[in-house]
Amino acid sequence: MPNLTHNHFSEDTLALHAGYTYDTQRTLSVPIYQNTAYSFESLKQAAARFGLEELGNIYSRLTSPTVDILGARLAAIEGGAFGIPTSSGTSAVFYALVNCAQNGNNIVYSNKIYGGTQTLVVHTLKRFGIEARVFDIDNIEETLEKAIDAKTSAIFFESLSNPQTAIADVEKITKIAKKHRIVSICDNTVATAFLHKPFEFGVDISVYSLSKYVNGQGSALGGVVIERPNLNELLKNNPRYAPFNTPDESYHGLVYANLPLPIFCIRIITEWLRNTGATLSAQAAWIILQGLETLGLRIKKHSQNALEVAKFLQSHPKAHNICYPALEGDTYNGLLKKYFKDSLSSGLLSFEAENFEVAQKICDSLELFAIVANIGDSKSLVIHPASTTHSQLSEKELQSAGVTPCTIRLSIGLENPCDIIADLKQALEK
Ligand SMILES: *Cc1c(COP(=O)(O)O)cnc(C)c1O
Repeated sequence: MPNLTHNHFSEDTLALHAGYTYDTQRTLSVPIYQNTAYSFESLKQAAARFGLEELGNIYSRLTSPTVDILGARLAAIEGGAFGIPTSSGTSAVFYALVNCAQNGNNIVYSNKIYGGTQTLVVHTLKRFGIEARVFDIDNIEETLEKAIDAKTSAIFFESLSNPQTAIADVEKITKIAKKHRIVSICDNTVATAFLHKPFEFGVDISVYSLSKYVNGQGSALGGVVIERPNLNELLKNNPRYAPFNTPDESYHGLVYANLPLPIFCIRIITEWLRNTGATLSAQAAWIILQGLETLGLRIKKHSQNALEVAKFLQSHPKAHNICYPALEGDTYNGLLKKYFKDSLSSGLLSFEAENFEVAQKICDSLELFAIVANIGDSKSLVIHPASTTHSQLSEKELQSAGVTPCTIRLSIGLENPCDIIADLKQALEK
């Protein structure tokens, strides 16, 4: 892209151009730099790079050109300062959380989130001495502030939750986060920046699974952590964030808060990618860049198709409790109108069958839909959460997560909506 500031372009334009200035061959497509290590001009330069006095590539576990372009492009679309891709959405969520919290801290998380994230915060973080406290996304006033204390170092939620399609009242959350000077982290995987911009509503960190709508074809895993502009102000001299304000012994006594750089993301590289290595590969970054080019078009079409499907299900006697925020009368319709562009709501929707067995039968009877533990593919997908993605949760956790034994989750694809609806009709009536 010509050297213009990104601020003036819309997301559609940024998705095609941001972060890439031609390399020496002037390839129009971003090149895949299939490379592990970088040759230094001198040992002096090598030493400067290792000491962070000069920024530049050292080894591809830390940074590499194709991956960096993806990170810069995603950050530009999101309106962020910096973005670090990771090998999966799960590693992005993990890195964002452990960049805030260490042994002895706690994090506060929304009850309606992705099943894998729930397991990560409740069980895995516990092994690191980090306590996870839940708040009720549908009752923020009475539950969020109560869960916070002097050791709280992150508030985590999803803008549009998978699988419940709950929409967060983001401003209510960020108001409390700001009052207590706690980093707020929003998983924006399902909404994407084309429907929702977390930073416009006071969020500090946006994380993604790129494996879903951003890639869009179920062909690569990836994640990203993006920080908002000027986040350093919140981290600097904040007693909740000691690792940013005390010398890092593993980095010659470096104090991150003294760096004139986006330190949240820099520390993701220097602490987490360097020492635990969940780095995105150049190949996967390139595949995800292909998907990103058409994300704006696709998410709109996913949303239009899903609204048609939701209306069909609403009219069908065998489908109950249709959850789709773009439906008038849906619990989250008001929040959708407030926070989402053009009131579009992605391809994710759920409904309930009569009982557990009928739900399973419907899944097995669908022909066009594939039974897949994924969302955001261009092809329509179906899953029965209680027997699969959410089968590790206790009954109480299931209930809190808004999933019942009868819930069927659909990820509506880009097929002709008449074909999608015909398939659902035959499966419901079988
Ligand atoms: C899939 C998903 C994740 C995890 O991402 P992976 O790329 O599968 O590791 C995290 N958050 C949400 C909302 C997801 O849908």
